Amino acid sequence: MRAVRLEATGELHLREVERPSPGAGELLVRIEACGICGTDRHLFHGEFPARPPVTLGHEFTGIVEKVGTGVSDFREGMRITVDPNIACGRCPQCQRGKINLCENLRAIGIQKDGGFAEHVAVPEKQAFALPDDLDPIHGAFCEPLACCLHGIDLAKIETGSSVIVLGGGVIGLLVVQLARLAGATDVVLVTRSADKRRLGETLGATASIDPGGSGFPQSLISRDGLLPGGADVVIECAGVRETVEQAPSLARSGGAVVILGVMPQGAKVSMEPFDLLFREISLISSFINPFTHRRAADLISSGAIKVEPLISRRIGLGEAVEAISNPARPGEIRALVLPSLG
Ligand SMILES: [Zn+2]
Ligand SMILES: [Zn+2]
Repeated sequence: MRAVRLEATGELHLREVERPSPGAGELLVRIEACGICGTDRHLFHGEFPARPPVTLGHEFTGIVEKVGTGVSDFREGMRITVDPNIACGRCPQCQRGKINLCENLRAIGIQKDGGFAEHVAVPEKQAFALPDDLDPIHGAFCEPLACCLHGIDLAKIETGSSVIVLGGGVIGLLVVQLARLAGATDVVLVTRSADKRRLGETLGATASIDPGGSGFPQSLISRDGLLPGGADVVIECAGVRETVEQAPSLARSGGAVVILGVMPQGAKVSMEPFDLLFREISLISSFINPFTHRRAADLISSGAIKVEPLISRRIGLGEAVEAISNPARPGEIRALVLPSLG
């Protein structure tokens, strides 16, 4: 079968490899779609810890083609989504319930072969069933949505809260929708892209602002701005220095900043601790998806979260190497790799 292999930093190739066979407690999955994530690009550039050689791809959905011995909850033909993050269940962090901080965490598509391939073998305990009538590729959004859900949970958004979302990529546009579902009455999307601002408003943002425009951020937080004094919660979804540095200034006193965007390992930002202290701003970071994958799958299955407008292009495995090793195209939200396309 074909698979997109990271062989070393900067060395990504489409290879012919042996099709995996499901071990005890594993499922062999025929991949229907796998999303290209910023993390895949970080892995390619050596900006995120990796363990090559490995098949990349951690945001995938597919059909169970074969079950290993001892599998009880799945049968051939079922459509599933996979939580790629495998916790050990026994280390001190797992025992505290913090499975995302597991000391032995291994992720499918990062340390273990993933979904940019025709097939992948996954532990049954990482799989979650999806309805048969769901669009076969929408399940590829469960993983990023599950990560956003953890951030939303940590943000403690209440009915009537105000939220500022920084960044109009896939994470920002999922967070806009989740913030509304969580009860926020004001959700302001901040992004330079006019197309993404428009899309954000159709997905539930109550307003959107161009941070490159004159008058920003006064137009947002001044006395006669959209959210005078700032928002209850500011969620950083862009993973870039400027927005991380700006986020605290957009939160009201006593408010919170949630860091969801992934910056390259080793990157630094500057902040003013006096301001954080004097205005008692909580700085919260949210890492991956502890116990949120089932909820994410249900939100997508029910249609409560819209993912179709987030799909910018569908490509085959043959185009995946080029797409991952280059920056996202201008305006692109999510590219999905569909092995059936070649
Ligand atoms: Zn991802
Ligand atoms: Zn553990």
